[in-house]
Amino acid sequence: MADQLIDLRGRTAFVTGAARGQGAAHARMLAGLGARVVLTDLSASAVRAVAEEIGGETLACPLDVGSGRDWAEAMRRAGERFGRVDVLVNNAGIAVKELLAEITEESLTATLRVNLVGAVLGMRAVVPLMREHGGSIVNIASTAALGGYPGGLAYAASKWALRGATRSAARELGPLGIRVNCVCPGAIDTAMISEETRAGGGAVAGQPIPRVGTPSEVAAVVAFLASDAARYCTGQDFVVDGGQTS
Ligand code: NAD
Repeated sequence: MADQLIDLRGRTAFVTGAARGQGAAHARMLAGLGARVVLTDLSASAVRAVAEEIGGETLACPLDVGSGRDWAEAMRRAGERFGRVDVLVNNAGIAVKELLAEITEESLTATLRVNLVGAVLGMRAVVPLMREHGGSIVNIASTAALGGYPGGLAYAASKWALRGATRSAARELGPLGIRVNCVCPGAIDTAMISEETRAGGGAVAGQPIPRVGTPSEVAAVVAFLASDAARYCTGQDFVVDGGQTS
């Protein structure tokens, strides 16, 4: 284990949206590499079930990423239990598909609140627990942060904005030894994608690797960025999309 490129023993990782899908995969992967993991999501019971399945040194906390008060309480609990946070994975996200003519103020605001405001509140909340030892923040964007598509106004805008927030945070936090990067997944097999996409239709069919990705294929890149193996990487986008954007 000591010779492994990615060794997270002694580190504490904090993952949002960890009750299912990619967030649960990130928590599992980081724990498997030795990290203590704080799993958070809207539903306390759902996230507790994943924490119990992982076992080991985990903490489950309810957290609505759009609430600064929730962030303060979850970080307080993480600090009380583990004393430090080395890795933050801002994974929680929502996707709406609405054409411009259909878009509502409510869905636009809700999308920005979770996908952008939530991640920025998380970065702000984690710094006090990271500044002593340094750390790594991984913001989960999307290939929708690299282009646009019909019906993608709110989602793509939120994820493009997250890339901008990532780059600015990387510049601010570099002097504190905190790295900040984005991961941009393509079509990944979770509740967020359609049956057609899952079956390999649409854009997936034209990819060099013509299938949807698995949550653990994204988690592997998150684990790399979380670790010292990525110690010279900050302010960048890491695309995990089967070549969709190539
Ligand atoms: P998912 O819908 O399975 O999981 C999203 C999780 O976020 C859920 O557990 C949900 O409860 C949680 N969540 C939603 N709103 C929240 C809030 N306000 N506070 C806390 N948690 C909240 O989808 P997923 O594919 O696992 O999505 C994970 C991330 O990956 C998201 O940021 C998503 O935008 C991004 N992404 C997904 C794909 C894909 O194809 N699945 C592609 C690119 C990017």
